[in-house]
Amino acid sequence: MALIVQKYGGTSVGDAERIKNVARRVAASRAKGDQIVVVVSAMSGVTDNLIKLSKQIMDQPPEREMDVLLATGEQTTIALTAMALLAIGIPAVSLTGAQAGIVTDGVHTKAKIKNITPKETHRLLDAGNVVIVAGFQGQTPGGQITTLGRGGSDLTAIALAAALKADLCQIYTDVDGVYTADPRIVPGARKLPEISYDEMLELAGSGAKVMQLRSVEIAKKFRVVFEVRSSLNDNPGTIVKEETPSMEEIVVRGVALDKNQSKITLVGVPDRPGVAARVFNALASGAISVDMIVQNVSHGSGTPLTDLSFTVDKPDVQKARAAIDVLKADVGFQDVAVDESIGKLSLVGVGMRSHSGVAAKMFEALAKEGINIGMISTSEIKISVLVELSKGEQALRAVHNAFLG
Ligand code: ASP
Ligand code: MG
Repeated sequence: MALIVQKYGGTSVGDAERIKNVARRVAASRAKGDQIVVVVSAMSGVTDNLIKLSKQIMDQPPEREMDVLLATGEQTTIALTAMALLAIGIPAVSLTGAQAGIVTDGVHTKAKIKNITPKETHRLLDAGNVVIVAGFQGQTPGGQITTLGRGGSDLTAIALAAALKADLCQIYTDVDGVYTADPRIVPGARKLPEISYDEMLELAGSGAKVMQLRSVEIAKKFRVVFEVRSSLNDNPGTIVKEETPSMEEIVVRGVALDKNQSKITLVGVPDRPGVAARVFNALASGAISVDMIVQNVSHGSGTPLTDLSFTVDKPDVQKARAAIDVLKADVGFQDVAVDESIGKLSLVGVGMRSHSGVAAKMFEALAKEGINIGMISTSEIKISVLVELSKGEQALRAVHNAFLG
């Protein structure tokens, strides 16, 4: 008998029919003799709607009240899913995050799980129930309701799988698994049978939004092997696990296009110690995360000048600009240029560590299409370039074709 954690995302529980579909799938797994814990998200669109509603009441609702509000989305789904199972004769009990023993810190709207006491879950499982746990929520040691940040149901599933020492963790979603590229943009994209945690993290961080980033980090930390697969068919999905030697034989695992970044350039920055520290401290104080950074060779006599470019998430552009503008007199740069029409194209694979010529081949593929490269950055297992946004998809197809076609 195995213990399986199955997580169903918002679209998989999007309406009554879909919830009944989940119940049938859970029943089929249970019929094999396994114990099943189900983690569910809010029905698709519900969390967004609750946020919208709150904004109609007040501009900046207190985060404590946001958590009380947002936690209702998942609480609705656990009850409905339990009912759907009971309706087909399967014993089932729903548990809120708190009831499932999920204890978090007190950082409302982006709380971190501190520990999970799975006693109640084990007791209910041993009594023959399917246990349905609300994703995305927990409670502080003092009993306050908290949520784990957008997409946090993934985290609930992974953390529960670790705490329950589950034999298997399945993340059911509306795609068949992790692909070599977004199949809506690249027709030749293929589903990957397996991928390492690090590759998954780089792809997720590069705009391939299959799963919440933090949940993959936690899976890596606690070595939770999980499978990403579809709730709408029975196709095998993608297994995400620790790197194996054979994974290095494949140079490039996947390519991703991130359209959600903007480039900010400080023009004519005096090149002297402390300037970069000041600029990026100002951004960090505003909780603005910076991705790529490029500083040019400086030019001119006297105090030489340089250009400093970096990328931030699109929604943070105005905040970043404001933080930078304050520094203008003090740091003494000449101008700020913002470019929102960029795409970040990333090539990811652990095989890059042991293969050479990857960057050359990528740049060659872009050159053949006449696509200009803005900024370039690399890590051990990733190469990212900025391209014009309007050419982003063409660039993605060309690079995919060169390595994975
Ligand atoms: N319902 C929450 C959200 O939309 C959590 C989740 O779906 O994972 O972010
Ligand atoms: Mg989700």
